[in-house]
Amino acid sequence: MHDMFQSAGLVAYWRPVDGVRHGLSPVELPYPGQERETLCGTTVIVVKTTAIDWLSPTCAACWDEARDRRDAAAREAGAQ
Ligand SMILES: [Zn+2]
Repeated sequence: MHDMFQSAGLVAYWRPVDGVRHGLSPVELPYPGQERETLCGTTVIVVKTTAIDWLSPTCAACWDEARDRRDAAAREAGAQ
């Protein structure tokens, strides 16, 4: 569905936390119980997800940040 992140490399891991899907910096694959900072500046504990969790709405602030990072990466790639 969201294939907009595939072309310019990974900019975020998306994980549902408390009913909202936040973007996490792609420094390492998130695992349950891990504390991670989201793209919108919140700190969350990564939880074990179920299929239902993935129906959660995407955090708008994380989405905007991820899109900015994607665009910046695309600009860098184009400048080389
Ligand atoms: Zn967020």
